[in-house]
Amino acid sequence: MRKPIIAGNWKMNKTHEEAVSFIEDIKEKVPAGSKVDTVVCAPALFLKSMNDASEGSDVAVGAQTMHFEDNGAFTGEISPEALADLSIPYVIIGHSERREMFNETDDSVNKKLHAAFNHKLVPIMCCGETLEERESDKTESVVRGQVEKGFAGLSKEQAAQVVVAYEPIWAIGTGKSSTAKDANETCGTIRRILSELYDQETAEAVRIQYGGSVKPENIGGYMAMEHIDGALVGGASLKPDAFLQLVEAGS
Ligand code: PGA
Repeated sequence: MRKPIIAGNWKMNKTHEEAVSFIEDIKEKVPAGSKVDTVVCAPALFLKSMNDASEGSDVAVGAQTMHFEDNGAFTGEISPEALADLSIPYVIIGHSERREMFNETDDSVNKKLHAAFNHKLVPIMCCGETLEERESDKTESVVRGQVEKGFAGLSKEQAAQVVVAYEPIWAIGTGKSSTAKDANETCGTIRRILSELYDQETAEAVRIQYGGSVKPENIGGYMAMEHIDGALVGGASLKPDAFLQLVEAGS
């Protein structure tokens, strides 16, 4: 059975003080040994303090992006080496905002997945279609391209550890969430693509999250679906109470 994973994606929000107090607020309520993996992906500047604050609980922290090179002349970038050195367990790779605004490509996503495994970080790889692609029936071919190119060269063992976040772009931050049935259908398609690339066992092991306007009121519908193993949540992850309700719904 796949362990559910609820991840918050704070994007470019909060101050250092707010970030640490969020972890202090929720950590008692997410005890070690819980049935769901709880992750908060925050701006890189806060990760060390958040990681320290979460000690002894089941709350894990994650970065929102990183470079694929270990180190070097890449002004402003975050290295996988530095994340690993701080024992940051998770990193989001290829979020649509990175793809759209910061030139992230399937090729860089692929390199970053390899870099994550080289440094023992768990990657949360995002994929998903635009509204135009959806309306012209291209959802499957778009996610197929993203998954095939993203996973290229990963071993079966590595593939099984990737968390895939299916996030239809038109549903991110818009309040227009995909129906649970539609989201499940595309998550099932992603699992089928993985079984073609690897095998059934590997595909069954991969955890697939839905993301896009998930909130406490609608998460139950997604979590009840066969192919949805959790959620990647932006806006609703910013308040401790709402985030805890999402974690609760995930377990
Ligand atoms: P949202 O963002 O929950 O605010 O729609 C999701 C995401 O971008 O990961």
